[in-house]
This record gives sequence, structure tokens and C-alpha cells, in this order.
Amino acid sequence: MIYWEKELEVLSRKELEKIQVERLRKTLSQAAHSPYYGELFRKLHITPEKIDRVEQIRELPFTTKQDLRDHYPYGFLTLPKRDIIRLHSSSGTTGNPTVIFHNRHDISSWANLMARSLFCAGVRDTDVFQNIVGYGLFTGGLGFQYGIERLGALSIPAGAGNSQRQIKLMRDYGTTVIHAIPSYLGRLYEVFQAEGLDPQRDTELRLLVIGAEPHTEEQRRRIEEMFGVKAFNSFGLSEMNGPGVAFECEYQSGLHIWEDAYMVEIVDPQTLHPVADGEYGELVMTTLDREGMPLVRYRTRDITRILPGDCPCGRTHRRIDRITGRSDDMFIIKGCNVYPMQIEGVLLKIPEVGADYLITLDTLNGSDEMIVEVEVKRDWFNGDVARLDKLTRQITNQIRDEVLTKPIVRLVEPGSIPKSEGKAVRVRDLRAALKAGNYSA
Ligand code: ADP
Ligand code: ZN
Repeated sequence: MIYWEKELEVLSRKELEKIQVERLRKTLSQAAHSPYYGELFRKLHITPEKIDRVEQIRELPFTTKQDLRDHYPYGFLTLPKRDIIRLHSSSGTTGNPTVIFHNRHDISSWANLMARSLFCAGVRDTDVFQNIVGYGLFTGGLGFQYGIERLGALSIPAGAGNSQRQIKLMRDYGTTVIHAIPSYLGRLYEVFQAEGLDPQRDTELRLLVIGAEPHTEEQRRRIEEMFGVKAFNSFGLSEMNGPGVAFECEYQSGLHIWEDAYMVEIVDPQTLHPVADGEYGELVMTTLDREGMPLVRYRTRDITRILPGDCPCGRTHRRIDRITGRSDDMFIIKGCNVYPMQIEGVLLKIPEVGADYLITLDTLNGSDEMIVEVEVKRDWFNGDVARLDKLTRQITNQIRDEVLTKPIVRLVEPGSIPKSEGKAVRVRDLRAALKAGNYSA
């Protein structure tokens, strides 16, 4: 059996849409109990009973991160606090965190989606699952924890950091599955090596789950080679609970997005009109099974596309492509629009390039420049200067061909780029900081 709940995972599209319409009506009625939507729906004359086709979602207003911030903390709450049992907030990668409240039903429904997601990637109750991300307000800790428990695997709530301890836990308890942020796994592998250990030889690892931050196919491939097992992409955001929103199945060709729990749209971020399947745009999501704090047409700012066609696994929930970045990740340098993942894609195809890189935007002699620091693998870094010069030229040219502006490339020693505890910081913009007057070197 490859499904966690077959009756919901292989529904015909028609049956799935029927569930969506019913749940959308319910969601809107519930949302109307919140101060924010209550007022908005009255103003716009939105009547949930009139919804009988999924396309009618387009008649509803969008909700933005700014709306959540403007009505922070309780403006979207539909229930008395007595009924709420937990809150989570976003990591605040791109500004003030937002907060989401859950009642008992919400926590249970999320745990189920998470169990379904893990099962979909091949995790079973016989696994030993080490969750190497921060516990606390970040949703990756408890979100996975409840899902692992619902699925019935043995959970090790290891938390983030302390790689030596992580390795000890893995070896002592025979960990078979790890969940971690992709940017951390390169570091974990280096510690394995420093200890004279090899994850393929010295652990019982059989699969990896990676997510929570944008990463490229090249990054995934590197991780799979280091650990010698498949790495499955896990996508979620705190506004939609957290992890358990979309997940790869055994075919690793896009992420099934659970459409009985979420209504999914991809829109052009400028016009806000829907784009055709296969075309990139901003992911917009509506919760269909949340009571404490439903969200309607939430603009995630994540850029992806719907992958057309059926998946061989038989699941009928559509697949989204890996997130190429957030609309607010994009920066403009010398008139060119650049996403950090374009640069990662170039770098990680080059075998001499090590685990980490950092993009700095700075004003040098009156001109804005993009400086790309690139860690080089140890044996190369200690090699001769002519070889490094050649590598610098190669990286410079390849990045220029990709983003259409010439970077300043600096090769640096492995391990020298500062690491953050959580999600990797890929871009430092000192231009903006200088303008705001709050940059102190
Ligand atoms: P923050 O937005 O502050 O980082 P969250 O912890 O809620 O807060 O993170 C959700 C965001 O993380 C998503 O909107 C997306 O940008 C990113 N993300 C999560 N999972 C993935 C993934 N598998 N691939 C790419 N990006 C991801
Ligand atoms: Zn599939």
C-alpha cells in the first residue's frame, strides 16, 4: 500500500472539486466570524451559500502578508481564545513575523496532512525519524513531530545544530530518516568527514526529507550524492500551517499539493490574473480545513507553476514545481532582475565549488556591484593560484551569462562563510542598509 488515506489521495478531479466547494463554503462562513473577514465580507457582499463552483474562488478578495501584519495579532481569529490551543509564527525571513492560531481540530488535521506527506515520500512506521530543525515557534519542529507520531515512526526530536551530537544520535539509535534544511546538510556531511565517518557506511539512513528554504535541483543532487539516499522536497509555510502543504512522492517529479485541504491558484504577480498550467506565477492558497484562523486567497509570494499531466503514483492532487524563489527575494542590480537560485544553479553545477556561497550587494567607488563569495572544496583551495584564477574567470562568465550582469567573484576557504542557525542567508544588501543608515561594519 502506497497511500496513507487512499480514499482522499486518488479521488477523481470531479469528486475532489465537490469536496473543495463544500469546504470553501464552510471556510468562508467560519472566516466571517473574524473581525477582519467579517467586515470585509459585509463590505463586499460575499455570501458563502452562493458558492457552487470552484471557479468562484476568483470572485473573492486576496489576503496579503501585510493584511496579517496590519491586524496582528488577533484580527483574523474566528474563535474565542478558550478554543485555541497553539500559535505558531513565521520565521521572519522577510520582515515582521506573522502569527497563526490553531484549535484542536486544526492541529489534528495538520498532523494528518503531515503523516500523509511523509507516507507519500516513503516513510513508514518502522522508521527511526530524526527531526533536525528548530522546535518552538518555527513550524518545522512541532509540525513534523506531530506528523511522525501520527504515522507511528519512532521520532527523535533532536532540534537544530550541534552536528556531533546529531551524528551520535543517528548512530546510537539507528536513524533511518532525517528531516533538515538543505543548507545544513552540507555542513553535517563535513562533520561526518571530520570525524572520519561516512554516512553511507556508518549509518542506517535510507531517506532524507529537505525543505523550508529555496534550493535548486543541483543542491538536491549534491545532498543525495553525499548521503547516498534520495532526498524528498517538502514545502510549506506557517500561514498554511507549516510543513505538510506539498510533498514529493517516490517519483520526485514535482510536489503533490493537498487539494482537499487547500485551494490552489497560480497568478501573475502583477495583474493577479490566473496563469495557464505550466506557467510560472505566484502561488495563492486558501485553507479548506482550518477553523481557528482560515485564510482566503493568501498570496504566498512564492514563485512556482503547476506541472501539467498525471503522476504515475496515481495521486490526483496536482503537482507544483520546486519553488524558484520568493517574489521578494528578487533583487535588481545594474538593471537586471536576479533570483538567488539562478546563481546557486550555476555554482553547484561546478564540481570545484564547495558547500556555501554568499551574495553581497554593495556600492564600490560609486557603482553598485554584486559580489559573489564562493567556498571552494579544500583540495582545490590549497591548489595553485593559476588554477584558482581560471576557476574565478569561469564562475564570473557563467554567472554573467545567466543573470546578464558581471559579478565580482571571490573564492574563499571552505567553512569561511558565516552560518545561520536556521534558514540560510543568501543575500546581503548593503546598498539598502547604507541608505537606511543602520549599517555598521
Ligand atoms: P518565513 O516566510 O519567515 O521564512 P516560514 O517559516 O513560514 O516563514 O517559511 C515559509 C517559506 O519558506 C515559504 O513561503 C517558502 O518561501 C519557503 N519554503 C518552505 N519550504 C520550501 C521548499 N521546499 N522549497 C523552497 N522554499 C520553501
Ligand atoms: Zn506522485
